[in-house]
Amino acid sequence: MTESILVVNCGSSSLKLALFDENETKLASAMAERLNGQDAFARIDGDNPCVALPDNANHKQALQALVSAFRERQLMSEAPASIGHRVVHGGETFREAVLIDDDAVKAISNCAGLAPLHNPVNLAGIEATREQFPDTPQIAVFDTAYHQTLAPRAFLYALPEAYYRDWAVRRYGFHGISHFFMANEAARRLGKTPETTSIISTHLGNGCSITAIKDGLSVDTSMGLTPLEGLVMGTRSGDVDPGLFEYLRTRGVALEEVHKVLNHDSGLLGISGRTNDMRTLCELADGGHEPSALAIEIFCFRLAKYVGAMMASLSHLDALVFTGGIGENSVQVREKTLGHLGLLGFDIDTDKNEHHGRHTDGRIEHADSRFPVLVIPTNEELVIAREAFRLAQAS
Ligand code: AMP
Repeated sequence: MTESILVVNCGSSSLKLALFDENETKLASAMAERLNGQDAFARIDGDNPCVALPDNANHKQALQALVSAFRERQLMSEAPASIGHRVVHGGETFREAVLIDDDAVKAISNCAGLAPLHNPVNLAGIEATREQFPDTPQIAVFDTAYHQTLAPRAFLYALPEAYYRDWAVRRYGFHGISHFFMANEAARRLGKTPETTSIISTHLGNGCSITAIKDGLSVDTSMGLTPLEGLVMGTRSGDVDPGLFEYLRTRGVALEEVHKVLNHDSGLLGISGRTNDMRTLCELADGGHEPSALAIEIFCFRLAKYVGAMMASLSHLDALVFTGGIGENSVQVREKTLGHLGLLGFDIDTDKNEHHGRHTDGRIEHADSRFPVLVIPTNEELVIAREAFRLAQAS
């Protein structure tokens, strides 16, 4: 049996696993959902029936059950050769992936104040695999690390400097693993090296962000101190006037309520009043539901404005790249967004946009467009597997 690399992605009530071999071939993937609840379940993708879990299974129990199922199916030997963990927040401590030891665990834990919903569950996954595979090298790959190359002009807010000095208030940026993959994959498709390639990368999923990448490095990005800033998202508002907080206070809305609304009840869901799912929104809009059409309009207009803003960081542009569930699949979002960008020289080929990726290299720009436009499926698991393999070899 070949050596395998296990990729672990822990969400608050979910666990996703992927198994790669050393040649970067994905051997299997699996997920567990609704963990810590009565209806927790786990499944190996493409396989039936579900993998049995104890009642109210937690992350550790789900991990054990899925690893046993991998072994039963002869997908994995006793232990993987290395394990890569996705970790949401690395603060300013982590500028790249690291081999996990006790000091790294402590440092990840120290960043939890910046990501209270995410880092503790990421740590729960790390603790579970360290316990189960004490002799296997484990690697943490951070969503924020790629953006640590931002200059102060891009990462500082225009706030009193003590806020940064004393409380680490700054823009960190997220989706770094995906934007890093785009930097490399776009360069490869354009026949260039990442070090000489400058792109604007849009990751449009349930969370959305856009990053300016200059010569392979992140130089500006739309998400900030938290993943709430920037683009319109599924349920998150993205940018709002900070004066909103005081205004709503005078209307009797508590701070906790504003926080909840901005994160969970806004974005596409808030505007449409129906759903945060872009596919459903497009169907509703086609059927004449005006709030859904408006939600798509606002989403695309905000995105187009940010494409323009990202250009301020670049001296040339090799491509605009779309990825994430919406970026990879929504013909309408790509067309509407590029429709706002004619003045900058973007021009879409509607036929290629409709059929991207199936018979082509993912390019959707018109022959007259000033810049290439690419649709590239993201592959965050592969980035984590590569880092896990690389750092385990070096350890
Ligand atoms: P992600 O978080 O990357 O899985 O992306 C989720 C988003 O992608 C949801 O808003 C989905 O509606 C959207 N999406 C997935 N497939 C399509 C599609 N074919 N057309 C439009 N949106 C899609």
